[in-house]
Order: sequence, then C-alpha cells, then structure tokens
Amino acid sequence: MKTVLNERHLLKRAIEEGYVSTKPTDTIRVLIKHHMRNQLDKTQVRQEVDRFMASHFKFYHPLKWDGVIHRMINSYGKSGDLKLHAVEQAGVTEGELDAIRSLDHVEREKFAFSLLVHCKIANQLRDANANWIEADKDVYDDSLLVLPAKEKRLLIHHLAGCGMLRLPSGISSRKVQLNYVDHQGEPIIVLREFTDFVYHYLKWRGDNRIIECVRCTRLLQRTSNRSKYCRPCAHEVQREQKTHWKRSKWYDGEN
Ligand SMILES: [Zn+2]
Repeated sequence: MKTVLNERHLLKRAIEEGYVSTKPTDTIRVLIKHHMRNQLDKTQVRQEVDRFMASHFKFYHPLKWDGVIHRMINSYGKSGDLKLHAVEQAGVTEGELDAIRSLDHVEREKFAFSLLVHCKIANQLRDANANWIEADKDVYDDSLLVLPAKEKRLLIHHLAGCGMLRLPSGISSRKVQLNYVDHQGEPIIVLREFTDFVYHYLKWRGDNRIIECVRCTRLLQRTSNRSKYCRPCAHEVQREQKTHWKRSKWYDGEN
C-alpha cells in the first residue's frame, strides 16, 4: 500500500526534507490543510503548493496538475476538514466479509477486499468521505491478482453489476462508491499492517496455504514446503546471507 497513513509525519517530512510521497496527492493534501490552518486564502495556498511541488517533485507539470490541485483546494475549503489524520488500523466486519464471499470468485473477492480496505482508510483520512475510493493502481496491486489484464479491466464493471459499487457518471473518473461497507458490525479482522493484507482475507476464506512468517508473524502464501518468510523478511534474510557470505569470503582470503 502506497497511501500515507500518518499525515502529521508526512507534513513534517515535506517541510523538513522536501519529501514528496509515492502518491503525490497525499503530500499535496497535507500541504493544503497545513496552509489553510495557517489562514492563507485559496490563491496563497495555491501559490505555496505550486512552489513546493515545482522545487521538490521532478515530474511536476503545473498544467497537468492544475485541475487536481484546484479541486482539492476547493474541496478542503468547503468541508473545513483540516485535521491531520493518522490511521492506526482498519477493521473488517463479518457482514462485509460475507458480502465479498458471495461473489464466489476468488480473484474478484480479493479485489473487493482490497477496495474495502482502501475505502476504510480513505474514510478515516477524509471526514464525510461516504465510502468513495479511487480504484487506482495501488488498489489493484494490493489485490495480488492472478488475472490477465483484460479481465482486470472488467472487475469494476462486474462488481457494479452485482450492486456492490456505484460508478459516477463521468467516464474519466476512477472513483467508485462502495455499497458493502458495514458501519455497525464488530470487526473480526483488524489490520494494523498493510503489506500483502489480502492474505488475511484468504486465511478467513479457508486457504490453508496462508501461514505466518517465522520472523515477524506477517501472513504469506506458501508456494513450496520451504516458504517461511513474508516478502519484506525474505529480502532482509537474502541481504543478510549475502553480507555473511562476503564477510566469510574476506576472512578466508585473509587467513
Ligand atoms: Zn516477515
């Protein structure tokens, strides 16, 4: 997941280091909130955001970003929701899991679960978000789909056809509104960590290839009898082994 979950931390990094997040709109959002909290008017906020992006984001093209920034400033000006949020966790209820399971197609279910988790985070980051979420690359990546591109493109339409999503009228928008968010039920899956989180769904679904990483207890999907580390830990172990190998080689050379 590339969405930044701690806005206070993100703002601090932007101001101190000129850091722009992988999703630049996250950085733009916290800057807008920050300047609006400091009583700058819309034109001044716009100038500040432009200045920041032009000096710190090498792919920044003012014309390309014009519409997005304009809409964001208007939306925060109108809602007055200028609090800097920090998402600690996201809970999924039994009702939501049952709704997803009823799709009865594992790849579509994984996608619906990823959309739901992204939506729950968006609801926490933006007051009055009303279950809207942008079905962007991040949502697809987090679904860990095993599907040809052609079928991936049909996922949204399939879920909309089942009444699980509402699509806005504008065709260019990737925003969708989820109809299967349950605001009442008690969560039975609570995510506090968002690497490969779709495995939590597969585990609930009864996939016995889902096991815990022996190093950090994150979930992973066993692909062979030797699988025991999650992706981040597997990288770390590999790095450690390389360093160890280099060191032992160096000692051998010395003696
Ligand atoms: Zn691990």
